[in-house]
Amino acid sequence: MSRARPGACSFPVKGSCVYLVGAGPGDPGLLTVKALCLINRADVVVYDRLVSDEVMQQVPAGVSRIFVGKQNGDHCMPQDEINALLVRLARTGRRVVRLKGGDPFIFGRGGEEAQHLVENRIDFEVVPGVTAATACAAYSGIPLTHRDFSRGVVFFTGHGKKDTPLEQEIAEHYAGNKGATLVVYMGLARIEAIMTALLNQGMQEHTPVALIEQGTTRNHRRVLTTAATAHVDAAELKAPTLIVIGEVVRLAKLLDWFVPAGQDASTLDAAGQQSA
Ligand code: SAH
Repeated sequence: MSRARPGACSFPVKGSCVYLVGAGPGDPGLLTVKALCLINRADVVVYDRLVSDEVMQQVPAGVSRIFVGKQNGDHCMPQDEINALLVRLARTGRRVVRLKGGDPFIFGRGGEEAQHLVENRIDFEVVPGVTAATACAAYSGIPLTHRDFSRGVVFFTGHGKKDTPLEQEIAEHYAGNKGATLVVYMGLARIEAIMTALLNQGMQEHTPVALIEQGTTRNHRRVLTTAATAHVDAAELKAPTLIVIGEVVRLAKLLDWFVPAGQDASTLDAAGQQSA
């Protein structure tokens, strides 16, 4: 079997196309082979704040980069401007890599961008990425399903379009799926309301909860808490933080394997102290 030339892609790469590419949650080792290949062949990379610095270091020096999101999230480029930018860049005949944190089609607005590209007859492809739920949980020693603890897993966002609160919807969904692990993206800002709604729907106060900040990165931080206390422990955490709720979180201490670069131990107790 012949070996591919270094840097060559093992699949056809179009000259002019918008590639909606998942960058994974932060660890550049979680980029797919296809994502890395396209990053190396891009004319321009359009990226936002969830794409880690380590992933951006993979972009070759001569490639144009366009940043479309500021750190605090409130001042991101509006979605319609991003959509228009992608169309404009594609019409110049360039190979555009639209790099998005995690997976582009999981709470990444990749669907909206793809719709806009279709409406404007722009050729596009989607490259799935490793989504925050699977990666942050795995790097925190949490199997999202387990035959002894959880028969399924549900991904929810903490707020909807135009910031509509979703805690009631999450809680009602939980009531019908008590055997499933619940993962809440973008839930940090409304964690108190989310946990209150869940407790009101019958969730036990001692149900284990993991809060995972900057998962998979060198700043990976995992706080293990409970449904009753999660909102208190969340106070010192910042975005991006993922909330994992369910019995599988009990395995986190036993299966703790990930030591972020520069940290002695990856486990933080509820008070934010490192413990071996
Ligand atoms: N498309 C992304 C999700 C975008 S929504 C994906 O598939 O992962 C943004 C939310 O994802 C954040 O508010 C946070 O809840 C979660 N998230 C993304 N990356 C994360 C990370 N490295 N650590 C913790 N949470 C993360």
